[in-house]
Amino acid sequence: MEPHIETVIDRNRMMVSDEIAIRIENMNKWYGNYHVLRDINLTVRRGERIVIAGPSGSGKSTMIRCINRLEEHQAGRIVVDGIELSSDLKDIDKVRSEVGMVFQHFNLFPHLTILENCTLAPIWVREIPSKDAIDAAMHFLEKVKIPEQAHKYPGQLSGGQQQRVAIARSLCMKPKIMLFDEPTSALDPEMIKEVLDTMIELAEEGMTMLCVTHEMGFAQAVANRVVFMDQGQIVEENNPHDFFTNPQSERTRLFLSQIL
Ligand code: ADP
Ligand code: MG
Repeated sequence: MEPHIETVIDRNRMMVSDEIAIRIENMNKWYGNYHVLRDINLTVRRGERIVIAGPSGSGKSTMIRCINRLEEHQAGRIVVDGIELSSDLKDIDKVRSEVGMVFQHFNLFPHLTILENCTLAPIWVREIPSKDAIDAAMHFLEKVKIPEQAHKYPGQLSGGQQQRVAIARSLCMKPKIMLFDEPTSALDPEMIKEVLDTMIELAEEGMTMLCVTHEMGFAQAVANRVVFMDQGQIVEENNPHDFFTNPQSERTRLFLSQIL
């Protein structure tokens, strides 16, 4: 179905534990009068790989942005790694460093080198000695297979390389959870695979991942659950096999007929 996944995937290493990483209960959010998220309930256990699918404008980005508090919700609860995201939340940096986020448009700092992009937050937010931050950054740049780019600037790299830097930069904060918001949507087809391969490796190492993506091959290969959103609601969730072969709602069937 998808040309981008040729990698043999080791699902045995993708263990889901009983421990809860994220708990969202009856969460609602408005932009002004616009009710963008409606009664969202979602529990994510450590080691889960969840793909969030749904039409444009259904609230996927808003939902994952609420999880690292780039957006605030107005009703219900979000608990991330035991930290309740509430209006009196004191330790927003702790949430942000435990929850890595990768965006569609990479969001690297253009005036900093690749290495500086990767060491900035560890040095200034986590207060890690700069030598240790550099060692860690080089380790993760090797992991995403571009250590030789460390002293270049983002504009000198391809889109796929920049996105792998964005992933490495997140990993430098030692996150327990990674959020991906359409990480391959802005990439040329030949670069999609290199980014998906990086994500697959993370999944195999047991990272808890929430991925908004239209890469349904990735969903089938890597996800343990697919969550389908429409009009601000979670309409359906299922394991990938049943989600694709036996969608429960008319809205899901319509969506799948348009993208597959
Ligand atoms: P998706 O990621 O599924 O495409 P979004 O979460 O980006 O959806 O957006 C959901 C809805 O909220 C859309 O109708 C969008 O126009 C609206 N929206 C998103 N961000 C804002 C904002 N900052 N202010 C007002 N409306 C917004
Ligand atoms: Mg979006």
